[in-house]
Amino acid sequence: MNIQPTASHFIDGKYVEDTAGDAIPVIYPATGEVIATVYSATPAIIDQALASAKRAQKEWASWTATDRGRVLRRAADIMRDRNHDLSVLETYDTGKPYQETSVADATSGADALEYFGGLAASITGEHIQLGEDFVYTRREPLGVCVGIGAWNYPTQIASWKAAPALACGNAMVFKPSETTPLCALKVAEILLEAGAPAGVFNVIQGYGMVGASLVTDPRVAKVSLTGSVPTGRKVYAAAAAGIRNVTMELGGKSPIVIFDDADLENAVSGAILGNFYSSGQVCSNGTRVFVQKGIKDAFLARMAERLKGVKMGDPQDPDVNFGPMVSENQRNIVASYIEKGLTEGARLIAGGNVIKGDGFYIEPTVFADVTDDMAIAREEIFGPVLSVLDFDTEEEALARANDTEFGLAAGVFTADLTRAHRMVAGFEAGTCYINTYNLAPVEAPFGGSKQSGVGRENSKAAIEHYSQIKGVYVAMGDVEAPF
Ligand code: NAD
Repeated sequence: MNIQPTASHFIDGKYVEDTAGDAIPVIYPATGEVIATVYSATPAIIDQALASAKRAQKEWASWTATDRGRVLRRAADIMRDRNHDLSVLETYDTGKPYQETSVADATSGADALEYFGGLAASITGEHIQLGEDFVYTRREPLGVCVGIGAWNYPTQIASWKAAPALACGNAMVFKPSETTPLCALKVAEILLEAGAPAGVFNVIQGYGMVGASLVTDPRVAKVSLTGSVPTGRKVYAAAAAGIRNVTMELGGKSPIVIFDDADLENAVSGAILGNFYSSGQVCSNGTRVFVQKGIKDAFLARMAERLKGVKMGDPQDPDVNFGPMVSENQRNIVASYIEKGLTEGARLIAGGNVIKGDGFYIEPTVFADVTDDMAIAREEIFGPVLSVLDFDTEEEALARANDTEFGLAAGVFTADLTRAHRMVAGFEAGTCYINTYNLAPVEAPFGGSKQSGVGRENSKAAIEHYSQIKGVYVAMGDVEAPF
């Protein structure tokens, strides 16, 4: 596996380099080693990418949707064929264990390409009869879309944005996170190989300022960001100045509510998935685990028992199921929250330690007796820190679950079906779960409410966010005018 990419950027169907930009070291989180270097896009590179997308979009939109869909479905097949290599690369880029990346990254990207490839030809307008006259609508692409990614799922994020955008006839310039610049380049290679015209999907590297330049360029019709709420605020405001469409996939502090009557084993499994998968670096994680008092002791005991199954180590080893944090910085952030939890009086049940060494490892950590006002219960940590909060009644649990500025996801574990649906109806969150947690199939809409975001990714709902409707009035008779 050659980790150093051919060049930093992929523009107009070719790798392009410009070493005048700031060097961005790519660090393998498991060892702290620099495994590749890319260069931040200069203004010339940014211009080249946008010009290429602008030109290619016209051609791409002129294809039939069936032809566009075929390209995306071919790309899905190529991505699946290369799953092993792409998963190894994803593990180098992020530090997530191969055990996860081999089933959750290129596979999920391929699902998105296949799903939107299949949907493309069904993206149509409608006919509205008005007596003799009628109106028809055309569903048209927006034009050039900008995608800006976070570092936790680089292949998936690039694919989740590219697939619906391209299905609708848009072109995209994608800027990966500076922390994980490698994987999106492979998505670009695959789309080209599958038959997408050069320039339909471009990747340029860079820090936040490169993203900021893209957002304000007059050639750009839409911006789709996956990132934190503070970045979302900036990007949304910059896009608003040009009245641009946005999709904002932002952070969260989601609740999982576990009632006394829940299946204990499933509830513990859900809380593990919702806190420790990808070492806790998942936006929709259910980091506030509200556990009804009758089941609390059993829940904590079983959680401690299940944590003995954690196998930390070299993430490329398929037996390892828990990797490092993506960066030293992220590890330090998580460690500082663990300190805050201890200082604020939460009871440490498991973990809590930074692992000494060159990699950015930290133990999966569980706190009990967490109260709503503690920093670990209010702020997004984006690491493997699970907080257990006690509750007595359904009303109380719902009110406390909703008492947050975020609204990305929420889950409930209970054997009482009507209560489950009541809870879900009451949750102020875009993505909800009953008796499971954190599944994100492409067929289901994914996204947040409140400060967690605007718009939805995946499912038919994504089409609304990558297309616009043109209404066309057709007169069958004479035009009546007052004079
Ligand atoms: P971040 O907000 O620091 O960066 C996200 C991206 O925005 C990066 O590519 C960055 O370079 C870019 N950026 C930064 N400033 C910018 C600016 N002014 N203009 C344009 N672009 C700018 O987020 P991160 O640390 O990479 O990722 C973690 C965050 O992402 C967490 O908050 C997490 O919850 C969120 N996230 C959300 C989802 C979701 O689907 N809702 C998925 C994954 C991650």
